[in-house]
Amino acid sequence: MKIARPLARLIESFEKLPGIGPKSAQRLTYYLLHVPQSQLDEFADSLEALKKETVLCGVCRNVSETDPCEICSDKARDKSTIMVVEQPLDILAFEKTSKYKGIYHVLHGSISPLDNIGPDELYIDDLFERVKYKKPSEIIIATNPNMEGEATAMYINKKIKEINPKIKITRLGVGVPTGADLEYADENTLFQALTGRRRL
Ligand SMILES: [Zn+2]
Repeated sequence: MKIARPLARLIESFEKLPGIGPKSAQRLTYYLLHVPQSQLDEFADSLEALKKETVLCGVCRNVSETDPCEICSDKARDKSTIMVVEQPLDILAFEKTSKYKGIYHVLHGSISPLDNIGPDELYIDDLFERVKYKKPSEIIIATNPNMEGEATAMYINKKIKEINPKIKITRLGVGVPTGADLEYADENTLFQALTGRRRL
């Protein structure tokens, strides 16, 4: 039997999502047949708006409805401290601790030679530009504590020291389990990692 085309199309789209295999993709698609049309329309609208109605902040590269983003345009934030994270989700995690008052820089990934991701594939030059022209006093490197995150941290540390040897560069302290993703760490762990940051 051939699956009706609209169903097959949706199954194919679901299969492209991370963590969703062919079986789950089928199950989700057939499940949606039971959902009221109004809810499906809403879902479709959200998908449509997801990228059309958001931008990357021109300063920190966070996903935002405005440019600069809410955090970068907040006068109460300490602009002299920049925390470098891999993903916009990491910002959400740190904002939940409500202990961090500086601003951010989102790389949108990490250096991973095995996946052919080098510095040029990340928003990393923008960070060096910020260091050059905005002259922050501290850079906190909060990339994930796994191989790619460490490699990225080492690269950033080396490059920034070439630009300005005097700048304070720190790395999140212990607390976040090695190999884990920061976005999954709880607020206490992140707060501890932040207060226990060590100088590179
Ligand atoms: Zn921003």
